[in-house]
Amino acid sequence: MNASQNGAPVYTCPMHKDVRQDGPGTCPRCGMPLLAEGTRFGMVRHMMSNPLPLVVMGAIMVVLIIAATMVR
Ligand SMILES: [Zn+2]
Repeated sequence: MNASQNGAPVYTCPMHKDVRQDGPGTCPRCGMPLLAEGTRFGMVRHMMSNPLPLVVMGAIMVVLIIAATMVR
């Protein structure tokens, strides 16, 4: 999903956000394995950047709850 949106995934060091490269590897500064951007917090960031689906989902749920209580 993310890969098709952004092209090739960018790999970053969890400790050094300025370390970025196009493929997997290790950080040249601390040697930690690089993580594909979006694997951590990707979901949260996605929801923050586009909260509309959440709002729509919440509204639909409220409507369903109201409808369920009204229909008798
Ligand atoms: Zn690092």
